[in-house]
Amino acid sequence: MDLKELCTALSKKEISAIEVTKQYIDNSVNAEKRVGAYITQCFDAALKKAETIDKMRMSGEKLSPLAGVPYGVKDNISTKGIKTTCASKMLENYVPPFDAEVITRLGNSVILGKTNMDEFGMGSGCENSCFGNTRNPHNTKFVPGGSSGGSAAGVAAKEFPFALGSDTGGSVRLPAAFCGVSAIRPTYGRVSRFGLVSFASSMDQIGIIAPKICDLAMVLTEISGADEKDSTSAKSEVPDFSDGIKDGIKGMKIAVIKELSESVSEDSVSALRKAAAELCGCCAGIEEISIGSLEYALAAYYIISSAEVSSNLARFDGVRFGRRCDNFSDLEDMYKKSRSEGFGIEAKRRIMLGTFVLSRGYYGRYYEKALAVRRCISAAFDDAFKKFDCILAPVSIGGAYRAGIKCDDPTAVYKEDLLNVPASLAGLPSVVVPILKNKAGMPLAVQIIGRKFDEKTIFRVADTLEGAVNFEQCL
Ligand code: GLN
Repeated sequence: MDLKELCTALSKKEISAIEVTKQYIDNSVNAEKRVGAYITQCFDAALKKAETIDKMRMSGEKLSPLAGVPYGVKDNISTKGIKTTCASKMLENYVPPFDAEVITRLGNSVILGKTNMDEFGMGSGCENSCFGNTRNPHNTKFVPGGSSGGSAAGVAAKEFPFALGSDTGGSVRLPAAFCGVSAIRPTYGRVSRFGLVSFASSMDQIGIIAPKICDLAMVLTEISGADEKDSTSAKSEVPDFSDGIKDGIKGMKIAVIKELSESVSEDSVSALRKAAAELCGCCAGIEEISIGSLEYALAAYYIISSAEVSSNLARFDGVRFGRRCDNFSDLEDMYKKSRSEGFGIEAKRRIMLGTFVLSRGYYGRYYEKALAVRRCISAAFDDAFKKFDCILAPVSIGGAYRAGIKCDDPTAVYKEDLLNVPASLAGLPSVVVPILKNKAGMPLAVQIIGRKFDEKTIFRVADTLEGAVNFEQCL
C-alpha cells in the first residue's frame, strides 16, 4: 500500500491504527538486527497512541489525513518527552520539553522512534554518530548515506512508511538515493524549523523520505506553512501538493546542468541518461545548460555551513545546554572539558573551520567571498528558471560507498555533497527519484530541482518519472 491507500483504509476503518502500528513494529524488530535505523524506539508509546487514535475514529471525530500512520523522526527534531540526541554525546540524555512544529502538525500520527544520523547533521555516510553506524539495507557493507541515514534506511527496510529528516546540504537527498527511496527537500521557508536543532540555519530545512512521490506530497501538505515561532517560515500559500500530480509533463522544458553531470561516475551518468530518456519519452524537452559558478559551490557551502554551525553549537557549553563534565577546576576548564568530551571529531573540525573563516582578517577572504558565490549561484538559477520549468541532476557521484573507507578522509566525504549543495545554497526545492541499480545491486537516483515554492511542478515531473522507470524498491 502507498501512503494514500493506507490512509484511505484507516479512514474507512478497514484496518486499525493498532494493526498498522503492530505491523511496522514487527518489521522494525526484524530489520533492526541488520540495519540499525533507530537511536530510540518508542514502541509502547506508539501502541498507546494508536489505540487513542482508533478510539477517536470510532467515536466519529474528524481526524487529519495522516491520523494513525506511524513514522520515524530524525533525532535532531525535538519531540516532547522523547530523547532528542542529535547523535551526539553532548545531548545523550536530553529530553525536550516541547515538540517541534512539524511534530505538532503531525499530531495524530504515531511516532515509532527517533532515527540515527551524523552528529548534528554533519556527514554523508551516517558514520559520525556516537551511537554507531546505520547500515544500508540493500547491502549492509555499504553506508546508507547521511546525515539522515536512519530515516532513509528505515523507510527502505519498511520499518516505517515515511520519515522526517533534515536537509542542509543534501541530508535527505543523499541517503534516499543511497537507499533507493524518494525524498523531498522543500523550498527554504516552506516548513517551519521551530524545534529542529540548528546546524546551518540559512540552509536547514526539514525534509521527508518515503517510498513514493505521492507519499511525499501528502506529508508535505500536512507539515508546510507559516509558523509565527519561526521568522524564516514563509507566508506563501500552501497548496494541496497531491493535486495535479498525475497531470503529466507534456511540453515542459527541463535543463541538465553541464557542471553537475560531468563530474560523476559512469553509474550516475547511466541513471541520469535513463531519466532524461524517459522524460523525453513523456514529451518533455531537455536541454543542457552551463552554470560556471557551480565550480565554487562546494567550497562556498563548507565555508558558510561551518561558519553557521560554529556559532550555533556555541550554546552547548555545559551551562546553557548540553552535558557537563564531572571534574573541573574553574569555569574555563569546565567549558573546555565539557565541549571536548561532548563533541565528536567532525563537529570539532567544523567548529574550528567555522571559527577560522569568521575571524578578523579571514572573514573577508573566506566568508564574504563564499556569500558572493552564493549570490551568483542563486542568480544563475533564477536565470535558468526563466526558460526552464525544472532542472534534472544526479544526486551522488556514484551511489553508496563501502562503510569505513572514507572515515579517515573528511574531504572525500565532503565531495559526496557536490551535487546537493547548489539547491541548498539557493534555497530551492528538490525531489529525489530512484532510477536503477548498479552491478553491485546498489541504487542510483536523480533529483529534480525546482523554482522556489514550486514543489508542485517537481512533484509532477518526479511522479511521471517514477511511473516511467518503475524502479524495484524490494531489497
Ligand atoms: N553532508 C553534508 C554536511 O556534512 C550535508 C549535511 C546536511 O544536509 N545536514 O554538511
